Amino acid sequence: MILLDRVTKVYKKDGKPALNRISLHIEPNEFVILVGTSGAGKSTLLKLLTREEKPTSGKIVVGGIDYDTLKDKHIPLLRRKIGTVFQDFKLLPQRTVFENVAFALEIAGMTNKEIRTTVPKVIELVGLTGKEDQFPHQLSGGERQRVAIARAVVRQPKILIADEPTGNLDPKHSWDIVKLLEKINRYGTTVLLTTHNAEIVNKLKRRVITIDHGKIVSDQAQGSYRQ
Ligand code: ADP
Repeated sequence: MILLDRVTKVYKKDGKPALNRISLHIEPNEFVILVGTSGAGKSTLLKLLTREEKPTSGKIVVGGIDYDTLKDKHIPLLRRKIGTVFQDFKLLPQRTVFENVAFALEIAGMTNKEIRTTVPKVIELVGLTGKEDQFPHQLSGGERQRVAIARAVVRQPKILIADEPTGNLDPKHSWDIVKLLEKINRYGTTVLLTTHNAEIVNKLKRRVITIDHGKIVSDQAQGSYRQ
């Protein structure tokens, strides 16, 4: 599903590499946690996957798409395969829960009829049925993150990247969000989660990849994390 072969990213000429010959293989339907201190290179890795950044050298293949031959006009196709959620939710404040999720389908050119049948299903999946007409400011942090997750998965991506999705949430809401990510994973989506929360990592008992100074320093099947 995700293949990196000796990938290096240097932002500034003669600067230290943000990623230094990283090789990595993630199978379809895996749930992988990416950990590492601030500046380790986690965001750079995620940005390479979403093609916000290009590697300085090395090979990246995601969902059968070889980035070496990827044309700019095909980047939207790639992004369809990858849903993203972030610590700060990035919802549209003037739009309701329904509209926030529907927006992802509108820009994809779906008809209103399709939107009316698809959106409620995803809202149900994330446990927000009954809140369709609420605006983001009327929701708790955990509920806002659920909207963001609904929007990220409504087009059924193969991969969900969750970059510090619990960074703004209290422990209870954090764990609820993690359980939702596990549910989405069970339905067949590869999940790539970054977190600084050791309790979550240790409770999840999933594959943990640790990055330090741009290198993978450990890759454990049922990893743990100490801060
Ligand atoms: P993390 O997400 O683990 O905190 P990053 O991938 O953001 O780490 O950063 C890795 C390294 O790359 C850091 O030294 C950071 O300063 C540098 N870096 C990240 N983005 C840029 C950029 N756009 N331009 C220059 N340097 C960058």
